[in-house]
Amino acid sequence: MVASKRPMSTSPPETPERRGIPIPSVSSSPTASTGQSIAESLVGSFATNASSSVTAQTDKERERTLYPGRVNLTTYPDQHGIKPHQMVWGAPDAATRGAIICSRLPGSIKVRNALGAHSGSYSIYRALSIAMGSLSPSHKPDYNMTDPPIEIPFSTQWKNVVSFDPWGHLVPSVFRSDLDAGLDARPSIAITRAHIKLSEIDESHRRGDIVVDGTVVHKSRPLKDENGNEVDYDPGVEISVGKAAIEPVWYLPGVAERFQISESLLRRALFEETGGMYPELITRPDIKVFLPPIGGQTVYIFGPQEYLQDETKTLTLRVHDECNGSDVFGSDICTCKPYLIYAIEECIRTAQKGGVGVVVYFRKEGRALGEVTKYLVYNLRKRGGDSADRYFKSTEMIAGVKDMRFQALMPDTLHWLGVKKIDNMVSMSDMKYDAIVGSGIPILKRYDLPEHLIPPDSRVEIDAKIAAGYFSSTKTITEADLVKTVGRTWEETEH
Ligand SMILES: [Zn+2]
Repeated sequence: MVASKRPMSTSPPETPERRGIPIPSVSSSPTASTGQSIAESLVGSFATNASSSVTAQTDKERERTLYPGRVNLTTYPDQHGIKPHQMVWGAPDAATRGAIICSRLPGSIKVRNALGAHSGSYSIYRALSIAMGSLSPSHKPDYNMTDPPIEIPFSTQWKNVVSFDPWGHLVPSVFRSDLDAGLDARPSIAITRAHIKLSEIDESHRRGDIVVDGTVVHKSRPLKDENGNEVDYDPGVEISVGKAAIEPVWYLPGVAERFQISESLLRRALFEETGGMYPELITRPDIKVFLPPIGGQTVYIFGPQEYLQDETKTLTLRVHDECNGSDVFGSDICTCKPYLIYAIEECIRTAQKGGVGVVVYFRKEGRALGEVTKYLVYNLRKRGGDSADRYFKSTEMIAGVKDMRFQALMPDTLHWLGVKKIDNMVSMSDMKYDAIVGSGIPILKRYDLPEHLIPPDSRVEIDAKIAAGYFSSTKTITEADLVKTVGRTWEETEH
């Protein structure tokens, strides 16, 4: 605070009013002593602030237009007019299954069969956009020409899916009549096609490890200099992919069953641990679907997507949990990016040999503990002498647990794709392996990260994981060995 450093006698600190910032202040508000409620006096201090009076008036009017009537904190199943839209989770046809409706718009609020909001955590930005007046809450999306360019067809395996809506990419077609009737049903999955270009794969191409075939891997266009002239430098390669973005849609009884807890305990924990954000988790036991405010997953498909369901075709898979520090910014404290690139290359090679490759990228940063916890753990590790025997203990000391990813929901994506068996699993995680095999999809072979691709500072992570039960084709590591695996110290990090 710059203002507080000034001596009070010579220069009084600037008040919010002097800076023109409309900060509500109950004590300084002229309406505070007139017996009005705190809420009214807060509005009053906004309205009496000269620099914002016009906006404040408009905001009050707009709030009444956007949200007429009193605040509706919760609803109950026996309230007048409440009649959830028919929905039978797991039904084999769209008509019986029914659309997921979680909209609070007037035409949908009484027939909602889902709690929460679309777009996961981005629903908060939607709220901001509506409050700022840039988005109309009743904006009707135009889904013309947004249908998937590649097909993920109905599979009997869809009955296994409880953590997202397997019909999510087909909403505009299979629930057309509901949309036409004015119901606010929205796609929760979108599928598209793209070329991806990664500098590591350009390097692999230059080394001759990845070859251009004109189908999966294409030569990039020639590079140009600032004058627009083509330069004689290898432009590298691009990879054709199909990709699908999936947002979470939880069928609560199914999710509870997957974790072997009661639905009521799951509802209570979700209500309490989200700061009481979703009271209807408690008051509306008749609504079985919840769209949680969390990240979803993205599926990348290499090769023909129809091979995913074809048991005669070889399938290579990596299930990757987000690590922004490594995946995007190249941090060398872990093996995430090298592993992801290695998996993409294996997927490409499988597709080029007549099979299909899949990478599923989950938004579960830092083992779903989040990046703040992750960096705190890094500090503890580096200050404590970074050795593999203390790797998981460090996480537990801060987060209370070593992992919150709970892989039990992860195989849903594979069942949605119609995957029946996995030939090559590019992962060392025993938790991922157990979840997939336990869900009824056999894994024929596992691949660990080749030794030469492991960054030196991430040796601590890899050895700790192998000792804890992660798969390794070459190594056995004991607790005694772990003490000897050490990473870069705090001081060395600066060099
Ligand atoms: Zn990582």
